[in-house]
Amino acid sequence: MLHHERLRPPPEDYPPDEWNLIEKSFHPEFIAQIEAVLALGNGYLGMRGAPEEGSPCVQNGTFVNGFYEAWPIVYGEEAFGYARTGQTILNVTDAKIIRLFVDDEPFELATANMRHYERLLNMKSGTLDREVVWEMPSGKQVQIKSRRLVSFQQRHVAAISYEVTLLNAEAPVVISSEMLTQQPGVKKGEDDPRQSKVFVGKVLQHRASYAQERRIVLAHGTELTQMILACAIDHDLKTDCPHSYKTSYTEDLGQVVFTIAAQPRRPIHLTKYMVYHTSKTATPDAVCRRAEWTLDRAVGQGFTGLLAEQQRYVDDFWQRSDVRVSNIRAEVTRLTTIEMQQAIRVNLFHILQASARAENSGVAAKGLTGQAYEGQYFWDTEIYLLPFLIYTSPQTAKNLLRFRYGMLDQARARARALSHRGAMFPWRTISGEEASAYFAAGTAQYHINADIMYALRKYVNATGDEEFLFECGAEMLVETARLWYDLGFFSVRKGAKFCINGVTGPDEYNTVVNNNTYTNLMARENLRYAAQTVEALQVKKPETLQALIRKTGLELTEVEAWRRAADHMYVPFDPTTGIYPQDDSFLDREPWDFKNTPADRYPLLLFYHPLNIYRQQVIKQADVILAMFLLGHEFSLEAKKRNFEFYDPLTTGDSSLSSCIEAIVALEIGKFDKAVSYGRAALLMDLGDVGGNVKDGCHIASMGGTWMVFTYGFAGLRDYDGNLSFRPQRPPEAQSTLQFSLTYRGQVLDVHISPDSTTYTLHEGKELVIYHEDEVITLTQANPAVIRPTLKPG
Ligand code: BGC
Repeated sequence: MLHHERLRPPPEDYPPDEWNLIEKSFHPEFIAQIEAVLALGNGYLGMRGAPEEGSPCVQNGTFVNGFYEAWPIVYGEEAFGYARTGQTILNVTDAKIIRLFVDDEPFELATANMRHYERLLNMKSGTLDREVVWEMPSGKQVQIKSRRLVSFQQRHVAAISYEVTLLNAEAPVVISSEMLTQQPGVKKGEDDPRQSKVFVGKVLQHRASYAQERRIVLAHGTELTQMILACAIDHDLKTDCPHSYKTSYTEDLGQVVFTIAAQPRRPIHLTKYMVYHTSKTATPDAVCRRAEWTLDRAVGQGFTGLLAEQQRYVDDFWQRSDVRVSNIRAEVTRLTTIEMQQAIRVNLFHILQASARAENSGVAAKGLTGQAYEGQYFWDTEIYLLPFLIYTSPQTAKNLLRFRYGMLDQARARARALSHRGAMFPWRTISGEEASAYFAAGTAQYHINADIMYALRKYVNATGDEEFLFECGAEMLVETARLWYDLGFFSVRKGAKFCINGVTGPDEYNTVVNNNTYTNLMARENLRYAAQTVEALQVKKPETLQALIRKTGLELTEVEAWRRAADHMYVPFDPTTGIYPQDDSFLDREPWDFKNTPADRYPLLLFYHPLNIYRQQVIKQADVILAMFLLGHEFSLEAKKRNFEFYDPLTTGDSSLSSCIEAIVALEIGKFDKAVSYGRAALLMDLGDVGGNVKDGCHIASMGGTWMVFTYGFAGLRDYDGNLSFRPQRPPEAQSTLQFSLTYRGQVLDVHISPDSTTYTLHEGKELVIYHEDEVITLTQANPAVIRPTLKPG
């Protein structure tokens, strides 16, 4: 079921452009949405796109990935083993504030008379740029040009170049550059569980503050998690106009006020450097010192140096990661090539911003663009984001998998708490501990174990990084396989098949069910991959295997048991209809009354008690259909068609993780118009506010899914067995072209699909074997392959 955009800013004021997301006039009604899509970040530090003046804004926010406060989860009714500690990313010190006063009048976006206004997310330079001309009631015109960046190269650093020029008069100018801690939290929507917790009172406690010349340092700490944050700013003012400055600070506020006697046409150029450092162990003094060292370096480089570095980083990203399209079914997408290109790049750029420097952390569901879902990490990373990262930035993918490895001990402890062997990764977390307060749609999603192992396999296949597999992956595989074996059982009533009961699959509208098809199939993969890896260790790395045995107490008989469970895995199937039931009881449920559900009652979770939803045949997001994509080789095309027909009308798409998957499977089964419409919904999830909640942050999983729509969907990429194969899906009579690159085992493959040919070019590397439909192709740099589509009969 398709949802349409709710709020799509008007193209006159948000004109399409391939490399920029442009805002040509200030629209208060889009503030919250625009704040999220114009957010800057680098995976470590994120700043929402609020204006420099600090207002107007709806949910201003500055986030450091993984910097969070914990809180005791209070249950109305207790039960054993419930998650105990909630975790919420904090809105930290806002260092980007620059207020401007001309003739003592404040420049305020909401009321200023603007002769010119333009703001843009510049995806080529990795900056947020703004240029305005403000005409004051006195007739004085003030030009303000600013450029903001959150550095990819230096993850603790952000900077703003801010230039004020009086165009036609002189006037006293005051520029107050500020940093402010303790902003009010986001107001939680009454019944919207997706929004973040609001803390009562101060969460960031003062630890240190001092200043020297134009530099101010503030340090704060959290009470329960005992983390320290130091934020430091410094300035450089260049102008021919006479000027002076004054610095002051309190516990929560720092301010450097520049007073300038501005002359017409003489620019006043302020550069503001901002640094954030955090630590779980160091003292506030030590963290402040680190912040100052970084600040010294950034100031030394100057804005130009930081910008040049930024551009190189972003160029390199686009080289590896860009997806270029033209003419994809404009009649169905209702998007011109430029609009589509812009939307694709916004999606990819936000993934970069969410993940690039997430080095000792995960990627939150909203990246660093908002506080919804508490800044926590979900399976979104492994299933939706990692495919893109694996094939474009494998090092980032590895960091994220290593981060999961880092939480293995906590996952072991969590398994014990639930009376299981092995390890149980948290459904949602920042610290590694389960933070999901609603077990039915949280902890019960055991599939996250298998999702992580699925991503591990994809990573190892695409990179050949056996060292990581053997050193870290194997241990995770052993513990997750153990968990599956412990959780399931050979059921006599089901013909001695291995059954897994009491779990929730990806579809959160059917919770705590028996034999969720997705879970069983993914668990089977997990068990097999674990067995296969231990066997590979036996042959290739016996000493590493010994170390693994010492560490995990693994007995080789376990491996046999895993294989047995995998080989006897129960996969629900209804032979009369050819449907793979989502779980044992799904087909027995009464279908949801879609006809009498008005459009404004979606997402259902905001309007119906869970019991109403759980007892009926209604689906939040792709579940069996997701399995048919991830494990497509296990299903015939016929089965995919039949099951898509059955599940699609029952799937509300109330989760943003659904449209992209529906698009990919629809493409595979030849339902082009449907596919293109779903693809459009995924592509515009944030730009068109399809889910109605982009104000709370961008949907990073859907952004990763959008990349999959082009690569796995239109280009028909499949990689189940580690080989790359393609089966381009060309909508009939379409004149579309599609081009992208994949990094595979250190080589770079360019794929170019046009209406009358598919070209595979090995761009870097020696030799690569791929499959086009069923044909094997050996590529070398000198030998690209150009393949013309064969005309299908009829
Ligand atoms: C979805 C989950 C997802 C979470 C965070 C929920 O609405 O149902 O699958 O992990 O959002 O994006």
